[in-house]
Amino acid sequence: MRILIAGAGIGGLSTALCCLALGHQVTILEQSPRLSEIGAGIQLPPNAMRVFDKLGLAGKLQQYSAKPAALTARMGISGRRLFRIPLEQGNAPRWHAPYLHIHRADYIQVLFNAVTQHTDAKLELATCVSSYKNLANGVSVSCTNARKYDADVLVAADGIHSNIRKQMHGRSNPHFSGNIAWRAVAPVEMLGANVPENNACVWMGKGRHAVTYRLRCGELANFVGVVEAERNTPQTESWSTQGERSEALEDFRGWHSCVTSILENAPQLHRWGLFDRAPLTGWTNQRVALLGDAAHPMLPFMAQGAAMAVEDAWQLAASLNTYPDSPAEALQCYAASRRQRCSKAQRQSSRNARIFHRKNAMSQTLQYLPLWIGGKLAPSLLARQFDWLYSYDITNNNA
Ligand code: FAD
Repeated sequence: MRILIAGAGIGGLSTALCCLALGHQVTILEQSPRLSEIGAGIQLPPNAMRVFDKLGLAGKLQQYSAKPAALTARMGISGRRLFRIPLEQGNAPRWHAPYLHIHRADYIQVLFNAVTQHTDAKLELATCVSSYKNLANGVSVSCTNARKYDADVLVAADGIHSNIRKQMHGRSNPHFSGNIAWRAVAPVEMLGANVPENNACVWMGKGRHAVTYRLRCGELANFVGVVEAERNTPQTESWSTQGERSEALEDFRGWHSCVTSILENAPQLHRWGLFDRAPLTGWTNQRVALLGDAAHPMLPFMAQGAAMAVEDAWQLAASLNTYPDSPAEALQCYAASRRQRCSKAQRQSSRNARIFHRKNAMSQTLQYLPLWIGGKLAPSLLARQFDWLYSYDITNNNA
C-alpha cells in the first residue's frame, strides 16, 4: 500500500518503520524545514522497547541512552525515599525488556536514520498538511505549499495541534489542566554532589512534583517539574516557550538540592502549560486515521504519551496487513484495538497528578505511608501495579 504520514515526530517515524517493515511504501510529510526536537529527555519504557526490538533498533537506542537502575519515589523537600523498585531481577529486566532514558534529539535521529535506509521511504520537509479528501479508491492530501499527494491511507501523526483532527472533529476546546510543566537538562559535571541517582525518580510535594533521571550514558541530568497554577492565568502549550530561572526556582523553593541544582545549572528552562482534551468519539474517517498525540493526548504523569504512539504504530501496520484489500476496515480495526488501553493510560495519568500533589499532612500520610511500607516490605508487590503498562506486548496482539 501507499501510506502517507503527516508528522515526523516519534509517532510518525515509528509508523513509517512499522509499515516499511511490512513492505509498504511510505511518504512522510513534515511541516518543519528540518527534523529537530527540544533539548529534553524522554522515558522509553519496556512496552515501547518491545516494538523497537522487533524492528531491530533496540541496540541502537540503548547506545544513546541511560539505563536507570530503579523506579523510585522520594519526598520533594526531605528527599526521604518512599520506595525503590529495581528494574532488574537477577540479571534480567523486570518487565522483560529494557527501560531507557534518552535525549529526544537522539531518539528522533535513530528513527530518522532507520527510515532513510529504506528505498521505499520518502520524507518531504517544510510540507504542512492542511486538509484531506477521501476518494472512491484512496485519499488525497493538500498542503499549505500548494502541493497535493495521493495515497491508499493517510495517518495523522501531527501531534496535539493536529490539522487533520480539526478537519475530522472540528476545533477542540482544550482546557487548561491547572498545571504547568518545567523542563531542564544540565550537564552532570556541573552538579557536584547534587547529581541525581541513575533512577527514574519522582519527587512528591504539595501541589507539585518533579521527575529526575539521567541521559546520554549518564552525562546529562534531566528534570521535569509540574506545578499547579492559577486556572485563570493565560498559559501557552508550546515547547518553544522559555521560562525564567527565578520563577522555576521559586516554584521549587526549599526542595532537595538534587532537584534545585538542575534548575540552577541548566542552560535553558522551558515552560509548558498542560491542557486536557476530551477523549475523541472516533479516530478514523474512512481511509484516514489519527495516531499518537493527535488521537489521544494525555497529561505526562505516566511518561507514556510517546510510548503509546509507538504501540499505535505497530498496531496500525499489523491491521493493514490483516485487511490488505480493505484499508478503511483495517483502520477501524486499529482504532478499536487501541482505544481501551490508551483511554486507561489517559485516565491513570490524570489520577497520578492527584497522588503526586497531596496538599496536606493528613492526605500525604494516608497516601504515602502505605507506599513507604509497601516499598520496605514488598517492592515486588508494589511493582505489580505497573504490570498492565510495562508487560504489555503489542507485537503479540492478534487483533
Ligand atoms: P509530536 O511529537 O507532537 O510530533 C508531531 C509532528 O508533526 C511534529 O514533528 C510536527 O512538526 C509535525 N506536524 C504538526 N502539524 C503538522 C502538519 N499539519 N503537517 C505536517 N507535519 C505536522 N511520553 C513518553 O512516552 N515518555 C515520557 O517520558 C514523556 N514525557 C513527557 C513530558 C512532558 C512534560 C510532556 C508534555 C510530554 C511527555 N511525553 C512523554 C509525551 C510525548 O512527548 C508525546 O506523547 C509524543 O511526543 C507524541 O508524539 P507524536 O509523534 O504523536 O506527536
